[in-house]
Amino acid sequence: MLRKFMLFFAVSLFVFTFGLANLAKAEQVVKVGVDTTFPPFEMEKNGKVVGFDVDLVNAIAKVEGFKVEWHTMDFQGLIPALQTGTIQMAVAGMTITPQRAQVVYFSKPYYHSGQSILVKKDSNIKDLADLKGKTVATKLGTTADIMLSKMKDIKVERFTNIDDAYNQLQNGGAQAVVFDNPVNINYASTHKNVHTVGKLLTGEDYGIAISKQDPKLLEKVNAGLEKIIKNSEYLKIYRKYFGNDDAGLITK
Ligand code: GLN
Repeated sequence: MLRKFMLFFAVSLFVFTFGLANLAKAEQVVKVGVDTTFPPFEMEKNGKVVGFDVDLVNAIAKVEGFKVEWHTMDFQGLIPALQTGTIQMAVAGMTITPQRAQVVYFSKPYYHSGQSILVKKDSNIKDLADLKGKTVATKLGTTADIMLSKMKDIKVERFTNIDDAYNQLQNGGAQAVVFDNPVNINYASTHKNVHTVGKLLTGEDYGIAISKQDPKLLEKVNAGLEKIIKNSEYLKIYRKYFGNDDAGLITK
C-alpha cells in the first residue's frame, strides 16, 4: 500500500513539475502596434503587414523567443494604446523624443533619419527659407508637424495619412511636403515629377516604443537588437530595404 502510494506521489510530482516547466517555456505573445502608412518601414501588401520595421521586430522576437501579434492603427493612436495597455510595443519609424520618452520606453536607436523637403521638380523651392509664405503638407502628430508648427509664415496642412499630403502636393494644394526623408525618397522613387531639395532639416533616431508597464520587454528588445546587429541579421534586413544607402545605418 505504502509503495503504491509513493509511486503515485512520485508520478504526480513528475507530471506537475513537467507541466510547470512547459508552461514557463510557452512563448510570450507580444501585441505590437504598427502604422502601415510609413513605407518602406511598414506597409500593407496583400493584406499582410510588411516592411523594414516588421522584419526587424520579427528578427528580435526570434532571438529573444517571443511571438508577435500585429495590431494596425493610426500613428496618433500608438502612444495612447501603449499607455492603456492595448499593445505592449509599437514600431512605426517612431522618432525618439524627450516628450514621448516621458510616457513610453524607447529601445536603443535602430535607424538614423531626418526631415527633408519634397517638391515638384519644376519648383523654385530649394531650401527651408524658401518655404516662407508657402503651404506645406505633412502628417499629423509627427516630428515634421511639431517642427513646422514652430515656424512662422508657413501654412501647414496636416493629414492622418501621408499619402494625402503627397496628393495635395501633386494637385497643387501645397507647394511642398516636409516629412521623414526615407519616406520622401521612397515616394520620389515611384513618382518621377518630384524630388527632395536642400539638406536634412533635422537629425532623428527611430526607436521601438515599449509600454512603461513592461521594463522586462524593453530589456529583451535591446538585447535582441544588440544580437542581430552583432550577427549581421540587422545588416541583411537593412540592405533588403535600403540597398547601399548607409545614411540610416546603426552600427552598434
Ligand atoms: N518619425 C516620425 C515621428 O516619429 C514619423 C513617424 C510615422 O509617421 N510613422 O513622428
